[in-house]
Amino acid sequence: MSSVDSYIHNFNAGPSVLPKEVIEQAAEAVVNFNQTGLSLLEYGHRTPAFTAVMEEARALVKELMQLDEAHQVLFLHGGASTQFMQVPMNLLDSKETAAYADTGVWSSKAIKEAKFFGKVDVVCSSKEKNYRCIPNDFAVPNDAKYFHITTNNTIYGTQWQSIPRTSNVLVADMSSDILSRTLDFNAFDLIYAGAQKNLGPAGVNLLVVNENILGKVKRPIPTMMDYRNHIQEGSMLNTPPVFAVYVCLLTLRWLKKMGGVAAIEKLNNEKAALLYGELDSNELFATTVVKNDRSKMNVCFTLQDPALEKAFLDYAQSNGIVGIKGHRLSGGFRASLYNALPMSSVQVLVEVMRQFKHSIA
Ligand SMILES: *Cc1c(COP(=O)(O)O)cnc(C)c1O
Repeated sequence: MSSVDSYIHNFNAGPSVLPKEVIEQAAEAVVNFNQTGLSLLEYGHRTPAFTAVMEEARALVKELMQLDEAHQVLFLHGGASTQFMQVPMNLLDSKETAAYADTGVWSSKAIKEAKFFGKVDVVCSSKEKNYRCIPNDFAVPNDAKYFHITTNNTIYGTQWQSIPRTSNVLVADMSSDILSRTLDFNAFDLIYAGAQKNLGPAGVNLLVVNENILGKVKRPIPTMMDYRNHIQEGSMLNTPPVFAVYVCLLTLRWLKKMGGVAAIEKLNNEKAALLYGELDSNELFATTVVKNDRSKMNVCFTLQDPALEKAFLDYAQSNGIVGIKGHRLSGGFRASLYNALPMSSVQVLVEVMRQFKHSIA
């Protein structure tokens, strides 16, 4: 089997880079899962071998996030976007109010869905500032049923550097920075994350929920939407996305081997520091967000002279760099530095920026 070309530097925003060894192990399991002679793609989810995969994946999330007994781990279908509705369906009664921070496209979508189930109080927003920063002056009413934040704003490249502490139930969309930095994960009552940014392939969604917050709404909840049913069945209420869960397990094992969340955070800090350092010193480039709120996962930048954009993109591509074109809403460039992106790829990008500057001087 041919291996993945090592000279491609994958800065895609999602689906995105995975550790090379994970890709190879996943490929092997597609051909012959656990020496069973069967492909994982044709393997039953109720078998002991797959049940063990699901159990190990859930246990590794608990271990890596240092979760307490009340926090349950689920792997669900539907991506992060399904959680935009599933969260309020499970937590918010129609006469109650939920507080939301509006920090970009994904938060706005979460707000829109919550309004189908109850009242929404947008307690802070950086919309007027084109989402270039994280709001810092706001209060959350005590009677808000929960407070929802998007910890990392994938499209605009901002990130909450410290998590706001209020008395409310705390809910977070961590799709693009899950397991990238040490946080007190037990301080969150509900965390969701589409796997395809920092955790695995597309098709599965990680959910961490404090079970004490469930069962408090009056509405009947359809079976598949009720978190309690998924907890009860060990995240096997129906056929789980078998392959996607397996690849998440491989990535979680890799992360543990790397030294866990604290070790990957150190590496992520170094990668981000190198790239932002170059952006701050290379006068061809400009960053687009407020310095204190810069994301360590998605680094957004522009060229001072937009006429050079195409030339820079071509030059980067000729050096094996892919995925740095900015989101269609924000334009410019975006380099995503997820856990699995090696430091060497950031070094190549920085070198390309320096050489590009010399080439047009
Ligand atoms: C990508 C992303 C989503 C959407 O994820 P899907 O799995 O495609 O639904 C939601 N929130 C954030 C922060 C994201 O980065």
